[in-house]
Formats: sequence, structure tokens, C-alpha cells
Amino acid sequence: MLAPIQWECEGRVSSPARIVYMNDYYQADFFPRRQIEDIQLAALRGTIDRAKRSPHYAEALKGFSPGDIRTLQDAGKLPFTTKDDLRSHMPYGFLAVPHRDVVRMHYSSGTTGVATAIYHTQQDLQWWAECVARGMLGVGVTNEDVFQNMMGYGLFTGGLGLHYAAELVGCMTIPASSGNTQRQVQLMRQFGSTVLHILPSYAMKIAHYCQEQAIDPARDLSLKCAFLGAEPHTEAMRRRIEDVLCCKVYNCYGLSEMCGPGVGLECPEQNGLHLREDHYLAEIVDPETLEPLGPGEQGELVLTTLNRQANPLIRYRTRDITSIIDEPCACGREHRRISRIVGRSDDMFIVRGCNVYPIQVERVLMGVDEVGSNYLITLETVDHLDQMTVTVELSAGVFFDDVRALDRIRQRIVDELRHEALVTPRVELVQPNSLPTTEGKAVRVIDKREPADGGSA
Ligand code: ADP
Ligand code: ZN
Repeated sequence: MLAPIQWECEGRVSSPARIVYMNDYYQADFFPRRQIEDIQLAALRGTIDRAKRSPHYAEALKGFSPGDIRTLQDAGKLPFTTKDDLRSHMPYGFLAVPHRDVVRMHYSSGTTGVATAIYHTQQDLQWWAECVARGMLGVGVTNEDVFQNMMGYGLFTGGLGLHYAAELVGCMTIPASSGNTQRQVQLMRQFGSTVLHILPSYAMKIAHYCQEQAIDPARDLSLKCAFLGAEPHTEAMRRRIEDVLCCKVYNCYGLSEMCGPGVGLECPEQNGLHLREDHYLAEIVDPETLEPLGPGEQGELVLTTLNRQANPLIRYRTRDITSIIDEPCACGREHRRISRIVGRSDDMFIVRGCNVYPIQVERVLMGVDEVGSNYLITLETVDHLDQMTVTVELSAGVFFDDVRALDRIRQRIVDELRHEALVTPRVELVQPNSLPTTEGKAVRVIDKREPADGGSA
């Protein structure tokens, strides 16, 4: 086992007790596999007991007891929990502690329908901050850093989720929240921000703004790294953001049902996201048959909280599509990794019989140098058939009066999309910054198709 990294800033902070404490929780990143699994088994049994205190699980877990779990594989005997279960038990059907122990609630973003509420005790919040802080320490963030958090503060977990972790690490934390690009860049310059938490789509917007204002990130900013989360994005998008912001970019995954960001974070290897397996038990299942899938097989991520008090969730179907990487990581951590999220099972759309994920479109676009920072997929019905149009912003250097060059770019995108997703889209090339943007998660697909029955649904 790799020895835990001594916290770099030891001696530079005033309270020795705090250093001991910080090293204490960071140790968990370096537990050997055997220890992680022992912790998981004991915690899973405890979770069954705790979950049963909620009205939903009192019913759903009738007949199950901690003694039924003899190995981690026995988790497979427990019932799944779905987003619809959460919705139909709003507001308090999953609450497993007395109301007086709850200190905070968050909402999911509601990307796919009615938002759901999740509750936290003081201890839940502490563990959440520690999980994220472990990820931050793991890529070299220290109390010397200035952390600018460009994720929305409020009901969405993206803002507060990293906020408390950054404070735990000791960063000077700027709660900038989302939007107001001019002020964001001004803050970055004025305070020398070294670490960001940012949506991939917003990172591209910041980069574009810098270009317009002749701000050179290498010269005028002090960035060391950025955590990218909350939206699916490709490896090519990450590399682009690294290039334009001149810093390392790490993928950070989470969902409000499991607390929020921090369930999985990349290490310096940038090759998959280490799950904090002492807090979450992960499975991958086939989203159709719900049969378990093995390491390397792509399917739906199913997560069980192992320590959560207020809102324990058992076998929660995240709908996020990924696979488990069960090979040792060069960083030495024995917490398994998941691969980059491909998208949600319900992000997938079907065009003339072909299944397409928005990220496949992004993969093609990011391989084309002339493509800029934003794109939109529009689905329509034309003559009773599906039509997919991809509207693509070009980068600032492309001349719109060079018709032949534009035709060449358009044709290349059409050909590559046909190859990648087996559909032939219309491709529209537009000026930089002309597509609408949102302050929250990017909307990549607009589906205007008529329902198949032509009527009411
Ligand atoms: P909602 O489910 O309503 O969007 P959340 O704010 O809880 O609410 O968002 C969590 C979801 O965001 C995840 O289930 C996943 O689909 C997406 N997500 C979060 N982080 C990442 C990431 N790093 N890569 C891809 N998708 C992500
Ligand atoms: Zn690693």
C-alpha cells in the first residue's frame, strides 16, 4: 500500500489539532482493498437498520435484516430505489432520522423532471465535505490555494458541495456562484484564483470571454487546476479546456441523492474517477434487465450510501451510464474507479431507430479544430421522419465568407457523425457565441418531434 501523502502544508497552519484531523480523514484514501471491503460490509449492514427507520424502507425492506448480508454480493438481494420512488415519497418518506437532527436540505436540479429533496444531518455534511476534500488534496490542492467556486449556490448541490470541502482543506474560498462572466474573470485576476469548480460548458464560455478581451490565461491568470462537473463531457472537451485555461482539469462526479459532488473524483492520473468506496457501494447493472455487469462492462451505476444518516439510499439507480475500472491505479489508491460518465440512460434519444447519446456528438465535434465552444442538437419531425440538426458554433478564427472551407467543415462533421452514431444529421455552422447559454447545466438537446401517435402524449 502507498503511504498516505503527508499533508504538504503541515507546519504552515496555526492549529496542530487541525492538521492531525485532516490527515486523519485523508488516510481513508489509502486504505488497502481488504480494509475497504470490510468497512463496506459492516456499513452496509448498518445501513439496512438505519434505512428501516424511514417510512419508505420500513415497507420496502420488510423481511430483510442486516444478518442477510454475509458478503458484499448479497447487496444484490436488496430492492432497487428509483428517482420515481423518491418523487412519490416527497417530502419526508425517505427521512430516517427525527426532524430535529436534520440541518440542511438540498434539491436535485430537476434536469429530468420533478426535483427531489435530500436531507442531511451535521454528520452527513461533515462526511460529504471530507469526501470532496480528499479528492482536492489528492490532486495537490492546499491551504495556499485560492478556490473560486463558479457552481450555483443554493438548492443545487454543486456550489455548497465543494465550498465546505475547500474550507476544510484551508483554501481561501471565493463563493462566486454561477454566471456574470465579466465579474468571474475580474475575481480570478484580482485574487489570483488558483483552483476552480466549474461546469464544462461554462469553462468554454470563460475561455471565449478571455479571448475576446485579449486576456491570456497563461499570462494573466494564476490557475493551477479546475474541477469540472455536473455535466457529461468528453475527454477531448477536457483537453480543450486544459489548453484554453492553461491548467489541469479533473473530472468530479456526484448527484444530489448521494449528497452531491464528491462521489467520484479523478486523481493525478486523470484516468477514471476514484469512488469514495468507504462511503458508497457501487454496482453496474444492465439498465434493461437489471442484471449485474462485470468490471469494464458499460451499464447503469447503482449506488448505496454506507454512512448517510438522514437519507440512506439503498441500490439507488442513478441512470448514469459508466463502467467500473477494477485495475490498480498508478496513484496507489485501491478505491475502484468509474470511467467518465457517458450520459444518463434517459439522455439517450432514438433517431430513425439509432440510439444516440449527446456525448457522441460532442466527441465528433471536439475532434474538429474549427469548432468553437457550444453546440445544440435539435430533433424535429419532417415528412413523418425524424430529423436531427446539429448547430455548431465555430471558433473565432474561422472566416464565414470562405464558403468552400465552411462546406468542407460541414461535410466532415456529417461524415464523422454518420460513422459515430449511424445517423445523418443536418449541420448548421454559426458564429461564435450565437447559441443560447444557461447559467445552470447546458441544454444540449431540444426535442420538438411529434409524438409517434401524432396526438396527446
Ligand atoms: P439532476 O439529476 O436533477 O440533474 P443533480 O444536480 O443531482 O440533479 O445532478 C446529478 C447528475 O449530474 C448526475 O446524476 C449526472 O447525470 C450528472 N453529472 C454530475 N457530475 C457529472 C460528471 N462529472 N460527468 C457527467 N455527468 C455528471
Ligand atoms: Zn488513481
